Amino acid sequence: MPSNKSVSDAPITQFINCRILRDHRLQREDLWVREGKILDPEKLFFDEEGFADHKVDCGNRIIAPGFIDVQINGGYGIDFSQATNNIKQGVALVAKKVLEHGVTSFCPTLVTSPPEIYRQVIPEIRVTDGGAEGAGVLGLHLEGPFISKEKKGAHPLQFIRPFEKGGVSDLMETYGTLENVAVVTVAPELTYSGPAIRELVGKGIAVSLGHSMADLGQAEEAVQNGASFITHLFNAMLPFHHRDPGIVGLLTSDNVPAGRTVYYGMISDGIHTHPAALRIAHRSHPAGLVLVTDAVPAMGLPAGRHTLGQQEIHIQGLHAYVAGTTTLSGSIATMDMCVRHFRQASGCTVEAALEAASLHPAQLLGISHRKGTLDYDADADFIVLDDSLTVRETYIAGQLVWKK
Ligand code: ZN
Repeated sequence: MPSNKSVSDAPITQFINCRILRDHRLQREDLWVREGKILDPEKLFFDEEGFADHKVDCGNRIIAPGFIDVQINGGYGIDFSQATNNIKQGVALVAKKVLEHGVTSFCPTLVTSPPEIYRQVIPEIRVTDGGAEGAGVLGLHLEGPFISKEKKGAHPLQFIRPFEKGGVSDLMETYGTLENVAVVTVAPELTYSGPAIRELVGKGIAVSLGHSMADLGQAEEAVQNGASFITHLFNAMLPFHHRDPGIVGLLTSDNVPAGRTVYYGMISDGIHTHPAALRIAHRSHPAGLVLVTDAVPAMGLPAGRHTLGQQEIHIQGLHAYVAGTTTLSGSIATMDMCVRHFRQASGCTVEAALEAASLHPAQLLGISHRKGTLDYDADADFIVLDDSLTVRETYIAGQLVWKK
């Protein structure tokens, strides 16, 4: 007789006839799920003498961790940087729609905004687990307002501000609260950025460097203060120069503290970064590459005029411009498109392309023990893809939440 029969009576699902992404490679193994978590089948057999209640035949497709988008400004007409009365429903709508792109969790992103917007929006957007109603929210990404006016990109000049009061009190004065915040993008050359970065990192918030004129020394100092991410590498920063490589130089810096990884966001939409630049970044620092969409509210909508925070945006083909200019303002690419483009443009393996949209963002956020992985006991947030990396099914907590 089994000694401790059934730790849990919850039903067990076994996904068979699949290749699962585990330990950085696709392996021909089954995936076992119970109570929203990935189960170790050996423990199940030997400790519990358990078995599967259901089997799902995956038709030899790929199972990968669900995609995590740490920079998305909105989509389907919803602008996270606008404090409408129903911002909650807006986030919920985007959360539902991105399931079809294989996104199982994300960081709603606010561009530089006036303080009253932060005060209205930040308390409304809560961290959620996700489920049939949509992808989970991992916390906000606040991109600005502590950035460089010279590298503002699509951010409204009048709301960009310096740290004036030593850094820490500037954060609270501007944002009102740091609850539900996961990432803050700052320009490290700003006076008092050091104390602000240390404060944020101390609260478990990832600090990202971007919209910045920083030289490499300033970027390295920020990393030594705890910054761990670069916002859309190459865009809105000094271009790589061989005598002062700027923020881009962090990819091969020897002043990054031992054991630390600097991650960098890449908008791999075929527009924001030339394929050769994408390859330079990937080949010099593959472990840090994080695919982001930087999607604007027009993502999922037809061409024409839309908004991004306080700015008007014009969509032409796959280009999103600040209206009346040639300044790029985020993308209308979806995460699955970015994954496919990255793989094709970089010539990387399927595994590397998938991990850049799952494992790496989870590591950046410090949640890779439960997200971005198919390891045992992790959340059963995963996607089923065919060999062209088209998403066929999306699961959250082991439940099918979207099917092509
Ligand atoms: Zn930006």
